[in-house]
Amino acid sequence: MKFKCSPMEPYRIKMVEPIGQTTRREREKILEEAGYNVFAIPAEKVTIDLLTDSGTGAMSQDQWASLLKGDESYAGARSFYRFEATIKKIFGFRHVIPTHQGRAAERILFEAMIKKGDFVPNNIHFDTTMANILVRQAHPVNLVIDEAYDPKLEIPFKGNMDPEKLEKLYHQKKGHIPLVMITITNNSGGGQPVSMANIREISHLCRRFKLPLFFDACRFAENAFFIKEREKGYEGKSILEICREMFSLADGALVSAKKDGLANIGGFITLNDDSLAEKLKHLLIISEGFPTYGGLAGRDLEAISRGLEEVLDESYLRHRINQVRYLAKLLEEGGIPIFKPIGGHAVYLLADEFLPHIPREQYPAWALTVALYREAGIRAVEVGGVMFAQKKGRGGKEIFPPLEMVRLAIPRRVYTASHLEYVAQSIIELFKNRQKIRGLKIVSSRDPLRHFTARFEPV
Ligand SMILES: *Cc1c(COP(=O)(O)O)cnc(C)c1O
Repeated sequence: MKFKCSPMEPYRIKMVEPIGQTTRREREKILEEAGYNVFAIPAEKVTIDLLTDSGTGAMSQDQWASLLKGDESYAGARSFYRFEATIKKIFGFRHVIPTHQGRAAERILFEAMIKKGDFVPNNIHFDTTMANILVRQAHPVNLVIDEAYDPKLEIPFKGNMDPEKLEKLYHQKKGHIPLVMITITNNSGGGQPVSMANIREISHLCRRFKLPLFFDACRFAENAFFIKEREKGYEGKSILEICREMFSLADGALVSAKKDGLANIGGFITLNDDSLAEKLKHLLIISEGFPTYGGLAGRDLEAISRGLEEVLDESYLRHRINQVRYLAKLLEEGGIPIFKPIGGHAVYLLADEFLPHIPREQYPAWALTVALYREAGIRAVEVGGVMFAQKKGRGGKEIFPPLEMVRLAIPRRVYTASHLEYVAQSIIELFKNRQKIRGLKIVSSRDPLRHFTARFEPV
């Protein structure tokens, strides 16, 4: 992770979007009105928006040009066939079902596959995936390797699933596991990649146990880049070859096109099972739309097809990952505690180390997102107790997740190195004055996914 200078953007800027400027005083008032929840802040009032890398990327000139070719026919649009062909080329599954975004794909697949009381293993479930399982009264189970919860341990594939944990769960819950999932990269566990060897091992187990294996593959290209960089035998392979190999080991994938699809909206399910595909298409028609557009416009299908081609470009991926590493390097030089190693799409601050004076019950990571906005107009997201706490018993005690982090997600092709320098400097400044940051309490919230709408007050 050495940079002689900041990583050079492999693009130049053709269109500009002004950035919101506010004073600290204005931000204090905005926070109060927003109930100290950064999701409730108008984007115009944000200087650098690192809330998410989902749907926030900049499209290329070819993607913008492709919009004009969108075929808006209800059934059998040309744009759908292009979309289908691109996805088949990369993923290699027989069926392609468009959805308006990733969580719609989750809802439809889970409706078809999951019954009340079932158990669904994953390395670590993403928040919407977990919620879509919980609403079916089933149990999301995280089977990532134990090392994943040690925020300082530097191993190359910290997103791997523990095969022994899967085997154990299989024997305990036989007949109640409708599918196994692997999230690449592992968003809720620091954006960490999963190795090809691990995918192969989990795939063998699933075949032995006759369990279908599905990827939650939003960041499949970033995962493939890490395999190429870190796993023996893949140095000389193209990103496309690595993707083909990964997907050949599974039965299907759920994808949000808002990440490695390089598009602002969209998603899809792709799979081999013919009768399951028929069932999914039927469910799709009820809520998302006809199976050749699934809640998307023809032009969206065009932008996604083109985006999926562009994301395979190694020089794009190298710059993408290097941007994340560059921000991490600046933060580390300033003594900021961060999750290691650096993942593909974000830097994660270790909020419990950053704010050791705030107890978990007062949500240190949430408090840090509030302070970051107040001091610097930077919007980040909490990945900790507010997002992932489980409640024990009636109105009972909160059981907190092992990691209490703030994610600084980098939108694709949007910010330059100097924007990242501003972010690093602001966080280092905040760190010096961290004693002044106070915890928060929840005044109203609604499960599941309470973090999107909860309101808070300083304690
Ligand atoms: C974003 C994301 C989803 C959900 O996709 P949306 O398009 O936001 O609905 C699911 N899983 C993972 C790992 C994600 O990052």
